[in-house]
Amino acid sequence: MRPDLFEAPDYYNIDDLLSEEHKLVRDAARQWVKRSVSPIIEEYAQKAEFPTEIIGGLAEIGAFGPYIPEQYGGAGLDQISYGLIMQEIERGDSGVRSTASVQSSLVMYPIYTYGNEAQRKKYLPKLASGEFMGCFGLTEPNHGSNPSGMETKYKDMGDHYLLNGAKLWISNSPFADIAVVWAKNEEGRIHGLIVERGMEGFTTPETHNKWSLRASATGELIFDNVKVPKENILLGKTGLGAPLGCLDSARYGIAWGAIGAAMDCYDTALRYAKERIQFGKPIAATQLQQKKLAEMITEITKAQLLAFRLGQLKNEGRATTAQISMAKRNNVEMAIKIAREARQVLGGMGITGEYSIMRHMMNLESVITYEGTHDIHLLITGADITGYPAFQ
Ligand SMILES: Cc1cc2nc3c(=O)[nH]c(=O)nc-3n(C[C@H](O)[C@H](O)[C@H](O)COP(=O)(O)OP(=O)(O)OC[C@H]3O[C@@H](n4cnc5c(N)ncnc54)[C@H](O)[C@@H]3O)c2cc1C
Repeated sequence: MRPDLFEAPDYYNIDDLLSEEHKLVRDAARQWVKRSVSPIIEEYAQKAEFPTEIIGGLAEIGAFGPYIPEQYGGAGLDQISYGLIMQEIERGDSGVRSTASVQSSLVMYPIYTYGNEAQRKKYLPKLASGEFMGCFGLTEPNHGSNPSGMETKYKDMGDHYLLNGAKLWISNSPFADIAVVWAKNEEGRIHGLIVERGMEGFTTPETHNKWSLRASATGELIFDNVKVPKENILLGKTGLGAPLGCLDSARYGIAWGAIGAAMDCYDTALRYAKERIQFGKPIAATQLQQKKLAEMITEITKAQLLAFRLGQLKNEGRATTAQISMAKRNNVEMAIKIAREARQVLGGMGITGEYSIMRHMMNLESVITYEGTHDIHLLITGADITGYPAFQ
């Protein structure tokens, strides 16, 4: 892969809206991605492996629990800083951002929000430092968009819970030390349980042959009569609203992350178009390529403003699930369209691993599907504005 020459576009001077802290956090993440992700990511994506060597660096830039209070090892930052970190990491690779999102919003967030003090103290500092890696088990073989139908269940055996079932498409599962698993009790009520690697009957087979998110490890979670200690249940919230609360936080991060992937594609295409000479002039001087590039920067700018405003609402505790859905849906679609256009600007070179665009494009096929598909987010907006849920 070529040297990382990335220069972030900021067409509407959005930097002026950021605090000094936001810029410091963002710049530290940006430098780290240039130094530690860009030089190695293509090789890991090609061999379909997660680069475990970057776990320490992710922890250092505050990517594990950016908004979790410092007393539990988190970075104690606001929601805009969290978004900016996700943007910078996804500028490097959506798979790496996925690992950080899962750790922060799908593992640390439920333990912090729904867990008790003993659980927070036991798990959060180790998750923040990367000593423990976590995963989140909601999706099942028969229940993706409709997790309320989940079949994974646990039974109260007096001194422990007995967990049975299976989860599919779980990011980080092959190497995770702990899993936050959503399961129904005998009354059909959903709870989160913390399952630790090494518990008898718990296995995590890896899912192979992905053409997308190749630098992120994905797998299953299989529970065959797993005895889960009673102290591992998250009692702070029950019902589907508990995992959906985690998804709100992760989807918010994705709305920012997708901007990073789009920025990288735009920046690469712009540089290439200025350098590539055809018919005696740079292709950037042709109207057709300018149309592509002008539309890209317009869409990136709109997405930046959407994410920034959502960040303000999130800081004030006012962002709704439907607002988050709109931003996730819009920004991921924006990024995937830009990746496809940018790929074309590079002609044949666009399909090679010399440049990041094709990897971003393939990664975004997962990002547009996970954490609620593109269709489901549209239905969430539809239900919100009309009052009629059209899911069934
Ligand atoms: C790489 C990757 C990583 C993932 N990581 C995790 C993870 O860490 N943890 C986790 O729990 N899950 C994870 N997922 C799962 C992901 O969230 C699901 O794939 C997603 O929710 C969609 O579920 P599904 O794949 O079963 O598709 P389905 O729900 O079967 O949907 C198939 C199609 O039908 C459409 N559809 C479904 N219902 C409706 C409806 N009512 N109206 C109209 N259209 C509809 C969908 O939009 C989609 O196009 C991951 C997925 C991938 C690909």
